[in-house]
Order: sequence, then C-alpha cells, then structure tokens
Amino acid sequence: MNSNRCAICRALKQICDPNCKYKAHFPSNDTRFEDVQQIFGAANVANKLNSLETEEQRKIAANSLCYAAEARRRDPKSGIAGMVQHHESILNDVEQDIKFAENELKTNMGPDQVPKFVPVPIPDGFLTTVDDASTSAGPSAGPSATLPKNHE
Ligand SMILES: [Zn+2]
Repeated sequence: MNSNRCAICRALKQICDPNCKYKAHFPSNDTRFEDVQQIFGAANVANKLNSLETEEQRKIAANSLCYAAEARRRDPKSGIAGMVQHHESILNDVEQDIKFAENELKTNMGPDQVPKFVPVPIPDGFLTTVDDASTSAGPSAGPSATLPKNHE
C-alpha cells in the first residue's frame, strides 16, 4: 500500500500515481478533506475535479468545496446560506451606522458640509488567505473563497 496517497485516492481505495490530479488540492495530510468527504462524498469530489480542465479551476473548486463543507459543519442547517445571511446582516448594520453618522453630521455641520459616502473597490485577492497569496500566481489568479484561518 502507498501511504502517501492523496486524501481522495485513499478514500476511494485506489492507487495514487505521481500525476494524480487531486494530490495538489487534497494531499494525504489534508485535514479539510474529512469535512469535504462527509458532506460531498469522495467520488463526487473526484468527479467534479475530473470534469474541470485546468489546475486553476481545480484549485478554485477544491477551495470552494472546503469552504462549503466547513460552513456546513459549523452550521449544519444553513451552511453557506447561513453565512451569507450573517454577513448580509453585518453589512446592513454597517450601512445603518453610516446613515446614522451621516444624519448626525448633517444636523451638526449642515447638509452641504457632509461628504458623500464612496464605496471602496475590493482589491484582487481580498478573500485569499496568507497561504493562498504566497502560492498564487499573482493578481491574475483572482479571488478564491477560503475561510480565515482563525478557527483552530
Ligand atoms: Zn491521488
């Protein structure tokens, strides 16, 4: 038996050859794969990664599957949808705070003196972790969905 099989090949009890498509995304010691396997099933994950054409697509898919599986583990009822609702709620609170502050400024300084709120564009790579940023190909790699690594 090859003890260095990637997490998917090990779960599927198959040989993991040196050119295995999954190895880069779910190495043998990948602790995230337990959640991914439990939520999506190893065969489904393998099929999904096989259906993609580029390493970049497989990387994004693997990160997305990890993100979704972790969200489902944290919140078995709502998963990603619950996280979206949570963040929308935070965003709504911040927007309310901005409106409140604007109204307070208008009252204290006069309506003509209040600067307009201008949304700041989100920079490329904003949602990547430090690990991703150090291994990514640069800004062209685009944002990927991974959770902050403060949950351990
Ligand atoms: Zn493998």
